[in-house]
Formats: sequence, C-alpha cells, structure tokens
Amino acid sequence: MSLLIDLHMHTRRHSRCSGIDEYALIEEAARKGLDGIVITEHHYQWSQDEIDELVATSSVPNFLVLAGFEYSSSKGDILIYGLEPEQVEAFVPGGDPEAMLKQAQDWGAACIAAHPTRAAVPFDERITRMPFDGLEVQSVNIQHHEQRLALKLAQNLDIPPTTASDAHRLQDVGAYAMQFDDLIRTMADLRVALKHGRFQAVGNTATGKSQ
Ligand SMILES: [Zn+2]
Ligand SMILES: [Zn+2]
Repeated sequence: MSLLIDLHMHTRRHSRCSGIDEYALIEEAARKGLDGIVITEHHYQWSQDEIDELVATSSVPNFLVLAGFEYSSSKGDILIYGLEPEQVEAFVPGGDPEAMLKQAQDWGAACIAAHPTRAAVPFDERITRMPFDGLEVQSVNIQHHEQRLALKLAQNLDIPPTTASDAHRLQDVGAYAMQFDDLIRTMADLRVALKHGRFQAVGNTATGKSQ
C-alpha cells in the first residue's frame, strides 16, 4: 500500500502570504485523498507540540502531519526536511544558496529545490552543481512553461523530479502530491525515503490524472 503525501504548503499561522486556516487543513487533506501532509512555512518549522495539538483538534484521528520549512536563500528557495528546531534557527534568510544547502545536508536533511525555474524567484547557474535530493517540477505556483523547463533541468542534472501543491489557499491542498511505497510515520522515515529517491511524482490529483 502506498501513501500519498503533499510535501509543500503554508498556513496563515506562520506564513503571512498564506490564507489557509490551519484548523481546516487536515480535513481538507483527508477529503482530497491524501494520507499525509508536510507543513513548510517560510523560515519556520512547526514544533511537535503544535502538530500534536492540530491533529488532536481535527476530526481525522492520527492523520500524518509533519513539518519542514522553506528557506529563501539569496538565489532560490529550498525546502528542507528533517532538521531539529535549534538547527532551523541557523537558517537566516538570504544566505548563500550553496553554503546553506550544504549545511542542511551535512545535518542530515533532505532538500528539494522549490519552484527552481519560477521567473519570480529563480536560482542562478549554481543550481547545476547543487546536489539536491529533488527538484520541484510541478505545483500550483509553477507555470506550464516553467514546469517543462524544470523537468528538463531535473533530467539534465539527474535529480529526481518532485511534485507538491505549494498551497497558500485551502482549495489547493493536495493539487499535487507524491506517492511513497515506504511506510512513513515520522520525519525520519520521510527523510530517508527522499534521500533514496523512493517516491513517485503524482500529477494533478484534483482531476484524478497522474503524469
Ligand atoms: Zn508563501
Ligand atoms: Zn512555498
């Protein structure tokens, strides 16, 4: 049995750009057929206490909720999964993309380049030598031509393509997700699966089509 997990979303609790009411998140994710979600606020990683409280107040017992964070370097955004809270504090916004990726990976995190070809927040040529664990090629915030470019980039660099919603609106949760064959219960499980490329990108789940 495989698990469908959306790896990238923001809530209004810690991301000012998001309109998502965190208390509606789990019900929406379950309604979309997801088995789990990862909340990735900008420069903030939810504590386990916050996650426990959210799950406890939802109507879906034991729904899988994990937390990473999205780091904005001076050139490009990086999704970081698997750091301790005190390690997250070392990620001051606007740092050097290569140095910060190395720091996160040295600490054991799995790292995905968020919307790597998006016109608004692009990486520069350094991305070609950055050893990401995944390259996000589809989300609601990546235009179609940017998706094609991102997929080509992932193929050229031989880095697995990933898909996630990057939801900032409740209705976008689960628009894209990833399928995992590992049993994922914790961030440690997710980190290992991401590090080993044990996942499949799933296209627009809202329409039931995969690509
Ligand atoms: Zn945002
Ligand atoms: Zn994001």
